[in-house]
Amino acid sequence: MIIIFKKSASEEQIATFTEDLKSQGLGIHESVGENTHLIGLVGDVSKLDVDQLAANDFVEEVKRISEPYKAANRKFHPDDSTIEVKGVKIGGCNFAVMAGPCSVESEPQIIGVAEAVKSSGASLLRGGAFKPRTSPYSFQGLRGEGLELLCAARRATGLPIVTEIMNTEDLPLFEDVDMIQVGARNMQNFELLKALGTLDKPILLKRGLSATIEEWLMSAEYIMAGGNEKVILCERGIRTFEPSMRNTLDLSAVPMLKAKTHLPVVVDPSHAAGIAWMVEPLSMAAIAAGADGLMIEVHNDPKHALSDGAQSLTPAKFDAVMQKVKATAAFFGKTLN
Ligand code: PEP
Ligand code: MN
Repeated sequence: MIIIFKKSASEEQIATFTEDLKSQGLGIHESVGENTHLIGLVGDVSKLDVDQLAANDFVEEVKRISEPYKAANRKFHPDDSTIEVKGVKIGGCNFAVMAGPCSVESEPQIIGVAEAVKSSGASLLRGGAFKPRTSPYSFQGLRGEGLELLCAARRATGLPIVTEIMNTEDLPLFEDVDMIQVGARNMQNFELLKALGTLDKPILLKRGLSATIEEWLMSAEYIMAGGNEKVILCERGIRTFEPSMRNTLDLSAVPMLKAKTHLPVVVDPSHAAGIAWMVEPLSMAAIAAGADGLMIEVHNDPKHALSDGAQSLTPAKFDAVMQKVKATAAFFGKTLN
């Protein structure tokens, strides 16, 4: 349920009214925008009488929300959310590129790639330490050592780091990570989402391989319901009947999400296509569709990469893509971090 206040409502009236609702066991999300001041109620609102609430002379309107996601709902928070990752802003008019290898492989590799992507204009370093691989015989990541190497690359370049977590037990290792990624395969690992909801740290929530937009937003809701509202959604392609690409990039999800949620949306063209040459056109299209950022895989030697070499750009190619990203983002009124 959302309650919109009249412009004439006083702080005191709103505070007393809100306290009363809290004392009935309801969670309150307050949103103060330029034109609207509203609160969203989370919890069992079935016993509330809409007419009685609307009868207060400082209340403009009371609406029940039919969608099952509340905190993530744009109706709760009409303005775009901007989420900051160590000073890098994502959302609203702020656009950011996160780039780096699929897997962290060695110190010279991750530091070399970090320096290269930084000089091309990336503002966050990505790299997998814990890798969710389809085959148990494939490279599984350097795990704890990979996280240490990411920290070394951050020290060398100043770039904040984003890396994937696969289970709750590893959480203590992620204390020093700037943004934690939940991969496609874990989008509905609800215990993990609940644990991440207790942190005060941005979470990059990738879309599950065959998740609907509503299921994806419900996963964001799991994190937000725990108190962590710093969720960024990442469209990374979905399973369709088309075999010529690794996945199908669902670009229509971007404007649809923008209508349904205030959370920032970034696009990962690398995992969507699985093919390096497609990363550039899909990046342009993602910006035009309204994305707030991009996640792009870059490897110093894609042919010998331990994972996802076929979709990884060389630093030189990434630099060329970034020139176009900068121009396209500016055209669409975005400020590149
Ligand atoms: C990744 O980012 O390296 C990754 C495994 O992505 P996804 O979960 O989207 O497959
Ligand atoms: Mn990858």
